[in-house]
Amino acid sequence: MSFENITDFEYIIHQINDVEKLFNDNSKTEIEILNKIISISKMSIDCDRVDNKSKTYYSQVSVSISDKVNNGHILSVDDINRWKMLAKISVSVAFINLSTEMKRKGTYYVDIEPSRFRFLADFFYEKSKPIIHAHYHAIRRLSYIDPLYCYEKSLEAFSSLPTLFKDLYTDCFYEYIPSIAVDKTYKICSICGSAEADPYYCAEQSALYEKDESCKLYSPAKLWLKCRRCNNLFVYNFPAHSFEEIYNSTQTDVNESIKKVHSPRSYESRYPMFKLDKFSNILNKVKMFNTGDRYLEVGLGTGEMLAVALEMGYDVTAIEISQETCEKLSGNFDIDIYLCDFMKFDIDKKFDVMIMGDVIEHVSQPTDALKKAYDLLDDNGVLWLSTPNYESSFGKYQKYSDPMWSEKQHFTYFSYKGLKPICENFGFTIKRYDVSERYNGSMELILQK
Ligand SMILES: [Zn+2]
Repeated sequence: MSFENITDFEYIIHQINDVEKLFNDNSKTEIEILNKIISISKMSIDCDRVDNKSKTYYSQVSVSISDKVNNGHILSVDDINRWKMLAKISVSVAFINLSTEMKRKGTYYVDIEPSRFRFLADFFYEKSKPIIHAHYHAIRRLSYIDPLYCYEKSLEAFSSLPTLFKDLYTDCFYEYIPSIAVDKTYKICSICGSAEADPYYCAEQSALYEKDESCKLYSPAKLWLKCRRCNNLFVYNFPAHSFEEIYNSTQTDVNESIKKVHSPRSYESRYPMFKLDKFSNILNKVKMFNTGDRYLEVGLGTGEMLAVALEMGYDVTAIEISQETCEKLSGNFDIDIYLCDFMKFDIDKKFDVMIMGDVIEHVSQPTDALKKAYDLLDDNGVLWLSTPNYESSFGKYQKYSDPMWSEKQHFTYFSYKGLKPICENFGFTIKRYDVSERYNGSMELILQK
């Protein structure tokens, strides 16, 4: 037995379960039970995917059972349970090794009848390592076939073993603390308000791989729902802590007012995260539709677009929700920046150009944000919008390995097909579609009022 595929695992699990049945069947002799145990033990002990430590323990227990029977003793429930636990461990190790190998090769996600993985997951459910690791692999294999099951079982698995990830992946410090990682759940589409949505994919949270303390705010799994009406995706679960708290862990009064931030001029020297010419290319595309210079940018990220807009002579207004970003960029670029939630922003001015780069997927009411952008634009004003597209060409290559699924602060995941009618309903005309040069799988749209 090489443990090459799910059929091999199903076979050995049935064999292991049969031992219990033989034990409980009074018509079976100790020798019959022993023969079964020996034949199953041999399969695991001969398997390359089982580690030597597990093999050693396992063969010791199998030998002691064999001695007991050969000396005419009766097997006890404890004997059978101890053997079964070691049998489970060795099969778990083989399953973890196979799963890790498949992940590396990109063959982890295959279409298999969900009940077959559920059968494996049930067999592997024990509150001890490495069995629960195998359980987790079995439930992850159902992340797109049965996302709700995968989500619920992930939380259960982490409740049993909060440090599951530390063992499973290197460089992971995440620990699940249910009293801190409190989620709010959403059943109504945050984009169109429909109550009709289906589980689409259950991702691992990107926060699991982060070292900073805020990762504890996130639960280990993120369930995406697909709206039947608008075709876009939205999160089922998101940290109950407000967005502002997540963005500004030390700042709580950001809601109270719109603050203008202008930190002392900074002489700090650093490299931009992206090549800056990508941004002048974007703004030159925008200029093809509107040459006005009244510019509003919402959500500044690492500031490249803003820096290039300043260089190109735009009359810049900038809004940002993170205090840290406000302070850093206002100091670096020597400008005023509004520290506020875009939905609370109020100004007696219209704009020719608006930039919302990778913002709408972060906000709880993206449709309201788009409407607000429309209202802030002057006639013929242009909105440049960038957001991940779950039906992107990149996604067609990456499928469920696309890291975008796991983005901890993403609230919605649009498709072009789903976003286009929403923008058109407000009165925007879509002038241009580009595949992002900055983020794999993002779409960039130029919309005109
Ligand atoms: Zn919807």
